[in-house]
Amino acid sequence: MIYESTRDINKKISPSEAILQGLSEEGGLFVLRDLGKNKLDLRDLVGKNYYEIAEKVLKLFVDFSEQEIKDCVNNAYRGKFSDENITPLVKLSDGYILELFNGPTSAFKDVGLSLLPQLTKTALTKVKAKNDILILTATSGDTGKAALEGFKDVTGTKIMVFYPNDGVSTVQKMQMQTQEGKNTKVCAIYGNFDDAQSGIKELFTDEEFKKQLLEKNIKLSSANSINIGRLIPQIVYYIVAYVDLIKEQKITIGEKINFIVPTGNFGNILAGYYAEQIGLPINKLICASNSNNVLHDFLTTGIYNKNRKFLKTISPSMDILISSNLERLIYYMSGCNNKYVDKLMEDLKKTGCYKVTDDILRKITDKFQSGFADDDATKKIIKDIYEKDGYLLDTHTAVAYKVLLDNPDKEHINVVLSTASPYKFTESVYSAINGTSDKDEFELMKELNRKTQVSIPKNLKDLDKKEIRHKDVIKKENMKKYILEKLGEL
Ligand SMILES: *Cc1c(COP(=O)(O)O)cnc(C)c1O
Repeated sequence: MIYESTRDINKKISPSEAILQGLSEEGGLFVLRDLGKNKLDLRDLVGKNYYEIAEKVLKLFVDFSEQEIKDCVNNAYRGKFSDENITPLVKLSDGYILELFNGPTSAFKDVGLSLLPQLTKTALTKVKAKNDILILTATSGDTGKAALEGFKDVTGTKIMVFYPNDGVSTVQKMQMQTQEGKNTKVCAIYGNFDDAQSGIKELFTDEEFKKQLLEKNIKLSSANSINIGRLIPQIVYYIVAYVDLIKEQKITIGEKINFIVPTGNFGNILAGYYAEQIGLPINKLICASNSNNVLHDFLTTGIYNKNRKFLKTISPSMDILISSNLERLIYYMSGCNNKYVDKLMEDLKKTGCYKVTDDILRKITDKFQSGFADDDATKKIIKDIYEKDGYLLDTHTAVAYKVLLDNPDKEHINVVLSTASPYKFTESVYSAINGTSDKDEFELMKELNRKTQVSIPKNLKDLDKKEIRHKDVIKKENMKKYILEKLGEL
């Protein structure tokens, strides 16, 4: 089993190395050329639970032993998700909701970031590494906290997270400031998310810095969704949802269904494509964007153009203009043409824009459909669905639900992926239902709970009572110095 770079056929490495390295040297993403050669047997999966299905999926993507895979899956999820089915399905009037937010930080990123550290730990033993791994992450909120929880106290790893001091929500900031674990460090940056992100990116190409780390026996890695180790875990819940629908006799084996996915970096929906490639009967994968609808434009015209205004919306985890994982889809849709992908990514870097051939666009739209919703439409859906079904959608999930209603398909079962607890974005959800209020987040949580009877996830409820453990705020220029200094404490 060999991974290669999307941009260079000669960059070939093992699954373990791909997980540890995260990104290929020349900027490409790691992919399996013969994705789909080995398929799952769906009949074999009926009656199996999340853990058993996860093991079968992982076997197709990593070179670990059965016992190693089993240990990874158990350590990642056992006792860490509030629902024993990990990602339960809920039926509403217009379709199903696949709840991906029952993990330790109430965002869907928990599914990938609970398993990635286990894969990292195992990969370190596989390659007989003598060094530790340092995960450096810049976050606009959700990724940082989920990565911290996932890597907390995992042998052979240390994690440092940087966030913009004025660029995350109250809840997100408190989630990170109260982080526990002997190998974790959190620090705020004066500046915005791009400052934090570009600061980290510079360090990843800073040879002097990497040499200094190596003297301390440490190598850098990334917890971003460009890492294949974060993508693989996300394939699992598509299959689990399908198996659940069979169990409830809503579909028969082989029947195709639709998935509607609230999309930012294109990681989640790409995992759906991987699921399809290994044998899941999918009719359409429907890509839902907020007003930053660069993906919708791409999927309707074949032109990807990031030269546009960046809009701040009430679904901030989807405010993104460069969807990194789209590169993997183009690699597959171009017939694994590394040179072609390299050329497009060069165009993107130089001009902020690229165009795929009509033939590739046709292949993509055979499987993918798209739509988008602005903030007003999003809020209206939250209110409508609460009144109609008594179910509380978060802002990101509401975007996808609106796209479903705009693209009705009565012939197939529709499953909307729900990426966050409504309490993670309390202010917007509360105001969608009840109008604006000047109360603080924690008061609003309680009030939303009283009004709707939807319970508050435990990790958010007690947050304002937890000890603040990370108070550092630094200038962006001082990140390198800060990391080298604080490493000794981890
Ligand atoms: C990250 C995130 C998304 C976007 O997922 P991608 O894999 O980046 O497309 C959607 N909703 C929420 C709540 C998220 O945290």
